[in-house]
Amino acid sequence: MPLLTSVSGFPRVGRDRELKKAIEGYWRGDRSLDEIRKTASDLRRRHWKLQADQGIDLIPSNDFSYYDQMLDTAIMLNAVPQRYRSLSFENPEDALFAIGRGYQGERGDVTALPMKKWFTTNYHYIVPEIDEATDIRLASTKPFDEFLEARSAGIDTKPVLIGPYTFLKLARDPRAEELDIDRGLINAVSAVYATILTQFSELGASWVQIDEPYLSMDKEPGDESLFTSLYAPILAAGRGGVKVLLNTYFGHVADIYERLTLMGFDGIGLDLVEGRRGTLEAVRRYGVPESTTLVAGLVNGRNIWRNNYADSLEIVDELRSITPNVAISTACSLLHVPYTTEGEDALGQDVLKHFAFAQEKIEELNEISRIADLDKAGRETSREMSANRSLFDGSRVSADPDVAKRIDSLTPEDLVRHPARAERQRVQREELGLPLLPTTTIGSFPQTREVRSERAKLRKGEIDQKTYDTFIQNKIDDVIARQESIGLDVLVHGEFERNDMVEYFGQNLNGFLFTRNAWVQSYGTRCVKPPIVWSDVSRARPITVRWSSYAQSRTSKIVKGMLTGPVTILNWSWPREDVSHEVQTRQLALAIRDEVLDLEKAGIRVIQIDEAALREKLPLRRSDWHREYLDWAIPAFRLVHSGVRPTTQIHTHMCYSEFNDIIRDIDDMDADVISFEASRGDLVVLDAIHDAHFETEVGPGVYDIHSPRIPGVDELVTRIREILEKIDAEKVWINPDCGLKTRGEDETWSSLENMVEAARIVRSELGR
Ligand code: GLN
Ligand code: ZN
Repeated sequence: MPLLTSVSGFPRVGRDRELKKAIEGYWRGDRSLDEIRKTASDLRRRHWKLQADQGIDLIPSNDFSYYDQMLDTAIMLNAVPQRYRSLSFENPEDALFAIGRGYQGERGDVTALPMKKWFTTNYHYIVPEIDEATDIRLASTKPFDEFLEARSAGIDTKPVLIGPYTFLKLARDPRAEELDIDRGLINAVSAVYATILTQFSELGASWVQIDEPYLSMDKEPGDESLFTSLYAPILAAGRGGVKVLLNTYFGHVADIYERLTLMGFDGIGLDLVEGRRGTLEAVRRYGVPESTTLVAGLVNGRNIWRNNYADSLEIVDELRSITPNVAISTACSLLHVPYTTEGEDALGQDVLKHFAFAQEKIEELNEISRIADLDKAGRETSREMSANRSLFDGSRVSADPDVAKRIDSLTPEDLVRHPARAERQRVQREELGLPLLPTTTIGSFPQTREVRSERAKLRKGEIDQKTYDTFIQNKIDDVIARQESIGLDVLVHGEFERNDMVEYFGQNLNGFLFTRNAWVQSYGTRCVKPPIVWSDVSRARPITVRWSSYAQSRTSKIVKGMLTGPVTILNWSWPREDVSHEVQTRQLALAIRDEVLDLEKAGIRVIQIDEAALREKLPLRRSDWHREYLDWAIPAFRLVHSGVRPTTQIHTHMCYSEFNDIIRDIDDMDADVISFEASRGDLVVLDAIHDAHFETEVGPGVYDIHSPRIPGVDELVTRIREILEKIDAEKVWINPDCGLKTRGEDETWSSLENMVEAARIVRSELGR
């Protein structure tokens, strides 16, 4: 049997972010709907062709999305809440965007559906809403349209769907703590998938891939039977027609693998990168049914380093000794890696040869499959094989002895801040003189076109450093004056100097590399360009001290310094694979610690260390949480700030509110204040904060910055009152739920004015 190749999914924004540009142009009114449709279909065709040219056997379709594949799935299942239907858009795209980003206009005023991180990635999906009124039925032709579109381009594809189990596990009922997945719902959802399979059989598709990443999570009682009930009708519908590939990723599925082998799937996709150990053991133990193709996810879809062929081939050979029906695949969708290393020549060939982005990963699949079919001698003499081997021979970079020495000399005391927090809160209250319910922002102010264009000019050498610095200073002057005028209590300098909260820091650290165009979708049309950790990390020079102290010199109010924390820097970079995450984080923590101490020396009294992404890499399985992550990630954060004076107030910020389950660990970061997202999510976290006797002061975001909508004063007052029902007013801060850099100027200032006004109203209600 030749080794088949399969791709789980391909990035959709395009090599030059064409889709992003088109859609944002449409939102601004510069492009027509037909133009974005054309851009979308051109991209799909190009991506299919690219894979076909590399001889990929199972090429995905329906992996495209204008906004998010979970949202598409909700629409496909007709799970669209009434408030969006009532907007009565003629065009489906407009309806979709309204759900993804909210809508405020002549048709009505609705907030967006909440967004959450997709498992351990920095991709955000729209959380579907299901309630009693939801009438599940097949309500979209998207999967078929894209399949037929590919066929008309001469390419046979494997349609990809998010599976019913993952969909239901991630959906929520806005009125209940948990969605009640009853018989009726199970039958309805599974009937839709069955219909889809029948239709694909009729269309002559050979494979359909159903993604069930939720299988990599711990199972609760009832999960396994939920899964089997959902799939019985689906598998029955597929029988004799289209083949069903059940695809899992982001971890191992050892706890359900045996069951999967008994259910009659034509293919089972396994993640042999992140889930390697558990999954391989399960396969060895339970084998593979004769009629099932094992789709081995060997090419990492989450990092950008070259695949180690020798390593992959060893697994392929072992799997082939268990079953002849083996395919190799990406370990998850390539959505989470950039498009191509082409055009990154500035990095030099010696560096670039170590990287594989989406396009190169497709080539890797092709090469591995060809090498796998060679005999021993053929493999020995294969040029591709020896080129690949040379990437992993010897050491790619040499260690920095100073960094190693500093890490070796750390003691447990370096991970503890003194005095205890309650004492610090007392002295800080005196020192800072803030009102009850202090108002602040999360750091960035709108990165307008003007700001980006000045930065581009500097990069291209069209303006000199001095002109650019003066420009930034003027921006700071304005933003400080304006924050003062609307009455915010703790000001920020606005982060105008930063392209990105991670890249900017990376640029001032030793050990990082940067790409020109390696963008990855984060949510909707937003993309990020993570830097690459190439070697040992240390601080090259002071990073933010100059801007923070300039801002402080312009006002008598307190200016909050603004840093990115070590865990987030690592999580939003491409980490090394030759050194553990723990060690890389520690190196980063020492670098940021230097910056914290310099800021304090420069007279900055409040310092925020953002850990926007701390939860992102929390292992999917609870049993791994502490051992594999929190036990080093939380101390690394403490290492950053443990050296400051008691009066210096340390803030942190997180871009989500799902930390009920790690609330003690968050408290153990020992920050003085934490702000987090809560406006778009639910309020459960407030209960958890209350119940856990959480010590850190909290700023639950009072409005959603991911939407252009301006929250009214009344709405904000209500929101603050809700917060105060759960949390002692002495411990509450009032702030938006994240940085404002993606927002427009006008909406930002109107929203903040309303926020400050709302805080004033509530303060006076409290008699303060
Ligand atoms: N300080 C950053 C900002 O305001 C935080 C961004 C984030 O949490 N993603 O932009
Ligand atoms: Zn945030």
